[in-house]
Amino acid sequence: MKMHLQIEPTSRDESGRVILSSLLQMGRGRRHRFFFAIEEDAYHESMDQRAMPHLISQLMHAMRLGGKLFVDGALSPSHVRQLETYMRRWILWCPDVFRWVEITPNEWNDEVIPESSRHGAISCFSGGVDSFYSYAFLERDTNVPLRSLVFMHGFDIDLTMSDYYHETAQFYRDRLRKGNVRLLKVQTNAKQSARKFQLNWGKVGHGIYLAATLHLLGHDHALACIPSSHSPDSPTTPWGSHPMTDPLLSSSTLPLIHHNYMVSRYEKIAALAQHDDCLEMVRVCWKIHENQLNCGYCPKCMATLLALEVAKPNSWLQAFPLVTSIDSVLHQLSITPINAFQLEQIAIVRNHAMREGRTELAEQIAKIIRQKSTKKASYRMRLRRWFYDRKLSRQIS
Ligand SMILES: [Zn+2]
Repeated sequence: MKMHLQIEPTSRDESGRVILSSLLQMGRGRRHRFFFAIEEDAYHESMDQRAMPHLISQLMHAMRLGGKLFVDGALSPSHVRQLETYMRRWILWCPDVFRWVEITPNEWNDEVIPESSRHGAISCFSGGVDSFYSYAFLERDTNVPLRSLVFMHGFDIDLTMSDYYHETAQFYRDRLRKGNVRLLKVQTNAKQSARKFQLNWGKVGHGIYLAATLHLLGHDHALACIPSSHSPDSPTTPWGSHPMTDPLLSSSTLPLIHHNYMVSRYEKIAALAQHDDCLEMVRVCWKIHENQLNCGYCPKCMATLLALEVAKPNSWLQAFPLVTSIDSVLHQLSITPINAFQLEQIAIVRNHAMREGRTELAEQIAKIIRQKSTKKASYRMRLRRWFYDRKLSRQIS
């Protein structure tokens, strides 16, 4: 199939935000528009000329169809070779989902941005444990000072939750006063795009849209960072943001790292337990509460809270002000349905509690895990019996 990626002229919306967008034309009148909406003070006129962020934002859409992709704009040969390696990896992982795309720009041109005009690091930021770990330790690990954080609207915060997004962004802007770090607000239609092209958001989609945004806003930075959501205890199966694929979205002027995937979620929480300034801002809950970042009693809140308690007793008080006691959390955990992944996270906390000598807490958590495992097993047993009975009744009739 012949496809065409057209970069649309930069425009402003009614609230004064700058809209940078592209149109992927896929033949037979089919087209898809992908946009970034950014604030005026984050905009630079050089963004109008750069095709690479738009190509990255639409690459997986084109890979769903496969064929030749003509790009209106200049591309660097070395960057396209990197993208070809990226495509190979995804086609190997998901041969039924993706096809090869041959990329041809209007002009082959190595991007030249003087090293002297690139400084500091730009990192994605959701307010979660991974984001705060990178916020606290990126400079220590890379020797590049953190300069910008990108706070996405249209990722975990849905486009319909506009008030919550802007209030949360303002909350972080008021508090993230470490050095000269600035928080950049970006809205995209990434989730709608993933849905339209049937890309599973977690397993496939989210990473490439983060990388596209970092390339758009990171033109004058020395390093781009996606905080690792993939840790040593994560499964090695494909994931949208992955240590094998994220660095392949680097360019010669902006290296992109997947920071720091060899540190487990528990280790990150334990490190943050020593940083009171981060704990009062960490946002692990996906429920929306007025004036509160975390509900304290959903499975994700409870797993994080228990890990904080094991790492440093009572350190959770700042992040979960709605929680009255550890006993109330254990009670809620015992009656809340949780999935296999969450159960695994709780089991990891229990193992660390044992190691830290918190025997009583470890036993209480272990008891809950046993109850839940038994319930799951008995459900499987009932299901198996139902299938057997049905088979038997068909044989008899
Ligand atoms: Zn919660």
